[in-house]
This record gives sequence, structure tokens and C-alpha cells, in this order.
Amino acid sequence: MIREDNIRRTTPYTAGEQPKGVKLIKLNTNENPYPPAPGVGEALKSLSEDPAKLRLYPDMDASPLVDALAEEYGISPEEIFVGIGSDDVLSMCFLTFFNSGRPVLFPDITYSFYDVWAEVYRIPFKTVPLRDDFTIRTEDYLGTENGGIVIANPNAPTGVELPLKEIRKIIEGNPENLVIVDEAYVDFGAESALPLIKEYDNLIVVQTFSKSRALAGMRIGYAMGCPELIRAMKDVKFSVNSYTMNLPSITAGTAAVRDRAYFMEITGKIIDVRERFEDELEEMGFDFARSRANFVFARHPLFSGADLKDALRKRGILVRHFAKPRIEDYLRITVGTREEMEEVASALREIIRSGS
Ligand code: PMP
Repeated sequence: MIREDNIRRTTPYTAGEQPKGVKLIKLNTNENPYPPAPGVGEALKSLSEDPAKLRLYPDMDASPLVDALAEEYGISPEEIFVGIGSDDVLSMCFLTFFNSGRPVLFPDITYSFYDVWAEVYRIPFKTVPLRDDFTIRTEDYLGTENGGIVIANPNAPTGVELPLKEIRKIIEGNPENLVIVDEAYVDFGAESALPLIKEYDNLIVVQTFSKSRALAGMRIGYAMGCPELIRAMKDVKFSVNSYTMNLPSITAGTAAVRDRAYFMEITGKIIDVRERFEDELEEMGFDFARSRANFVFARHPLFSGADLKDALRKRGILVRHFAKPRIEDYLRITVGTREEMEEVASALREIIRSGS
């Protein structure tokens, strides 16, 4: 066996379960319950009719996809970086910009990949406690020496939005350090920090096709920021792997961006279903903050999070539970279709009535 100090030891991220061979209502990884835009299927079909296209390496710059995004958001292609899901994009941000040796700051309750990337890249970090209602205290990010800041907005797994004026204060208060705003869930009713990339050269906004564009299986994410920052990210990326974006994802992603009407339709439906489901949870006595994401993060005074998760699983419903301090009694329930959420609500009523 090789010497221990030859190995980069690290504790990996634990992703939500992807059950095999059992039929469950799957509400544990915030996937979209609707199919992707119809144009995606058509684009993939035409690619499959001409498989010779796969003989060549893909476009290194993923230009069709980047151009479609640039047009959609009214920015230039030089302000966009694409990668294999926003996990890849965020990881490249960490590798590129958190290089100073000063601690990077992020909330104590947030996307649990941040500390994993920090560990694997040997980036020092400090977590900053959220208030008891899971809101961010902006002042905690002002006047504190740091090597960068990461804010998921809306936050995960809480679904709580930090208003844009507070984001602006954090960006302005840290002009020499990069602020990443991870907007994986922003399309479900929160306000994006994207317009601020024109004003600040220390901001990167990261978004994904996995949630609002119903393409988790394709693995497409993107970062938007001023051209200098994007160039630095590309230099690092091209020092690791030139061809990250494969032809099917470039093709499918481009078709998805081109169909704005469908995007508005499915995000609108998810918001409506979420609000109705939240009303039901309120009636049942659940405790939660109104979500701006495609999930609800809630606890019930009579049940532990683990027991409630097990009781739902027995009824064929899979949700996410985090056995972590401060949130162990909460469940994160992805918003599915109206029918699925009606089933979840009736299962919860039965669990509360029967006690298990
Ligand atoms: N950011 C947040 C806050 C997330 O919850 C997720 C989904 N697990 C991601 C980023 C990564 O999503 P993807 O890699 O599918 O774009």
C-alpha cells in the first residue's frame, strides 16, 4: 500500500438517495416534476439521427449554449462560464478565487457541499450562524477578515431569501474579496443578483438547469460575472479539463434556454403548488418559513424529523432529512406535481392522526 501522506484524504459530500427498483414519490433531491421543454427531446432526437457528430470533440467553449444564455439574460458571452452542473461551476469558483489562505465565510446552515470543496481544496473556512429564524445577519459579513463569501439565495435547505439590498451590502462591504451568490433555486420566486454583475467586479452569480429547467440528468450549470472573473475561471478550468461540456448537454441546454414560455409555465406551476402545500402544512400545525424555492423546509412539534421521514417512507414518499445540529427536526420536501403534494398532505394528516 502507498504511504498515507501520498493520498489526498477527504470526506465526500452525501447526495440524496436515488432509489433503484422501488416506486416512490421522490421528493428528496429538488428535481423538477415536469419534463424538460419539448424542444429538448427534439434536439436530442436529431442528434441521435446523426451520431457521426459524436466522432469529434465538442466545442470547448460550448458556444451555442453560452450564446443562448447571453441572449436570454442580456449579457455578453464573455460574462458566462458553463460547467457540468452548478456543482462543477461552484467547485471551479472555489478553486479559482479562494486562494488567499484567509477563511472563506458561509452560513452554518447552507448547501453542505461548500465545506466539502473547502476541505478537498484545503481552503480555510468559517461558518457564520444564521439567526434562529434561519435568516442571515448581514453585519456578520461586514468588517470580518475573510478570503471570500458564499451565499445560497434562496438558501438551501431552508428556502429563505436574503433580500437583494442585503446582498448588495455584503458585496459592497467586501470589495477585495469574491462574493458567490448560488442561485440554484432563484427561479421559483426570489430576486436574482444578476443585474449587480454590471456594477461590481467581485460578484459571481451561479445558476443551474437542474431545477427550474428540469434537466438535472443533463448536468448543466453556469456562472455569470464580469469578464475578468470569468476569464480567470476559464484559465483554471482549461488547466484541469478542456472538454467538460459534452455535445448532448450543449444541444439539450440550448433548446431549453430557447423556450422561455415553457420555463415560465413550469416554474409558475411549481410556485402555485408550493403555496397551496404550505397552506396545508400550516393547517396541520407545521412550523416553517415561507419558501422561495422548489422545496419546503418544515418541522412538526409532535414528531422528530427522523420519525416523520420514516413514517413518510413507509407510505412510499421519499423526502430529505439532515441529521445535523439545529435542523434535525426538519424535513426538506421537494415540491412535486399537484397530485403528488395532495398525496403527501394526506399522508401527513394520517401520520399526525395515528401518531406514526
Ligand atoms: N447549489 C445548491 C444550493 C443546491 O441545492 C444544489 C443541488 N444539490 C446545487 C447547487 C447543485 O446543483 P447542480 O449541480 O445539479 O446544478
